[in-house]
Amino acid sequence: MFTASGLGAMRANTAMLTLRRRAAARVVARPGRFPSPARVFAQAASSSSSSSGTVSPPPSSRARATAAYDCSCCPPGSPFLFRLPELARPASARGVSTSTRSASGSPAALASAVPSDVPSVASDLVAYLNASWTAFHACAESAKMLTAAGYTRLSERDEWDLKRGGKYFFTRNASSVVAFAVGEKYEPGAGFAIVGAHTDSPCPKLKPVSAVRKGGFLGVGVQTYGGGLWHTWFDRDLSVAGRVLLRRGKDGGRTTHELVRVDRPIMRIPTLAIHLDRNVNADGFKPNAETHLAPLLATAIKGELESSDGALESSDRTKTNENGDEKTKRRKKKEPHHPLLLAVLAEELDCDPGDIVDFELEVCDTQPSVIGGAAREFIYSGRLDNLASSYCALRALLDARPLAEETGVRMVALFDNEEVGSDSAAGAGGTVVADAIRRAVAALCRGSDEEGLHERTARNSFLVSADMAHALHPNYPEKHEGNHAPRMHKGVVVKHNANQRYATTAVTATIFRRCAAMEGIPTQDFVVRNDMGCGSTIGPILSTNLGIRTVDVGVPQLSMHSVREMCGTEDIDICARHFTAFFDNFARVDADVDDVDMP
Ligand SMILES: [Zn+2]
Repeated sequence: MFTASGLGAMRANTAMLTLRRRAAARVVARPGRFPSPARVFAQAASSSSSSSGTVSPPPSSRARATAAYDCSCCPPGSPFLFRLPELARPASARGVSTSTRSASGSPAALASAVPSDVPSVASDLVAYLNASWTAFHACAESAKMLTAAGYTRLSERDEWDLKRGGKYFFTRNASSVVAFAVGEKYEPGAGFAIVGAHTDSPCPKLKPVSAVRKGGFLGVGVQTYGGGLWHTWFDRDLSVAGRVLLRRGKDGGRTTHELVRVDRPIMRIPTLAIHLDRNVNADGFKPNAETHLAPLLATAIKGELESSDGALESSDRTKTNENGDEKTKRRKKKEPHHPLLLAVLAEELDCDPGDIVDFELEVCDTQPSVIGGAAREFIYSGRLDNLASSYCALRALLDARPLAEETGVRMVALFDNEEVGSDSAAGAGGTVVADAIRRAVAALCRGSDEEGLHERTARNSFLVSADMAHALHPNYPEKHEGNHAPRMHKGVVVKHNANQRYATTAVTATIFRRCAAMEGIPTQDFVVRNDMGCGSTIGPILSTNLGIRTVDVGVPQLSMHSVREMCGTEDIDICARHFTAFFDNFARVDADVDDVDMP
């Protein structure tokens, strides 16, 4: 915990004022000096378009098309001298007008053949991902969705007053959320049909003392969270987001908790040029997470200009005293965070930098999530693992049939801290779901002291542990076992592991598949190769702690734990429909399973 008071706050204030002055200056037109990218684009388009409607590439591009690219930093004959691929011939060279859209086989005709009807669930997921840079933001977005659908927010600190047919949710640590809908025909001991997922993703998180100064740059110290593919964070346009604790006002008001997200790219982790690391392609890129992963916020000189007295923190800077005859080591006051960073946050939060008491910030990629692929069949995004499952679970809860005939309780539980083992107050290893079920049953069955009420509830319940799965990577087919290599567009993956890394049993897999089969939805299976390690999920943790039957499932994806992952749009649609089918059909399917021989 830190307090940005005193000297640090003063510097941050000044830095913020500088930022605001510059922002104001930016809106004053400076004609002709720095034309906007949009204007440059418009000018280029108009100058390269002939009156006949055909388009020519810029002359410089055509000249370069046949020339080797002269890299000024490489000597002649360098292995790094490369030839640009020949540019596609311009429309003018083919004598094709851009208006010939109906020509069979023309790019325009082919483009029109690409389906544009992206499943709406996938489009909605993209919006959810773009709003959910951190587990805190995902939790807030989920709460927004639930509130809009008529769910009542509960507080874990208050007594609960629940009714059959009621719809409720609560959050814990502002990073986990549990929502549930009570069937109108609920009876004591009836089961909970639960879909569980997680809100967190691997990322660098800011250290409690993040100010790093090295090589003339202001860096930001980070600690790695989870098992990220850290090399993918290099050369990305990065920013920060998370939660900030504030005490607004001089007289020390209440400590409030606010979410912050800086949309513009404010930092970057540059890779080392190949000229300084010539064997990187052969030997692999092996960054040291402590020394190489600190994002750069600004050059020190710019940072000094942004600060009040040009003397940013340095813990061991040597200074000469006033007489110049004696060197003294002045240990300057070490500020935990660069005043420039605090100023950016304060500007975003519209507060004084001195109001910031503490924060939990993550490094985030600013590139938006998008629908991609030539046939618009993919989602390119960070955090698909596991916000895709989280969104599908919520969507299914909201899309499921009305509660009039429901005999049990439908629940969605989205946890923080799965990526680090789930052992936390807000994690699946904590008491979140156990507390939710016990309290919901107690509130719905007031005065009842029926024998085994909670144990019967647990035995009648069922958990779908939803986490992303590994689709077959076409460039690495040897990483999958042939009979269990999930493909995109082929259904939700049921995960099996004899060593209980997944909690699936034949019974739970059958019930899960049957719920989907009733709606004509396919499934597929995954088992990891015996010569490879297997990941795990919240499934074994929750089934161990709660004694609830569990199936581990997930949407197939590629690039898991990269800063930029990908999955199929169709798979998101299938997953949301499958989870909806689970809520709609679980009670009927479960009643059809022999409960004597299948405990
Ligand atoms: Zn995951």
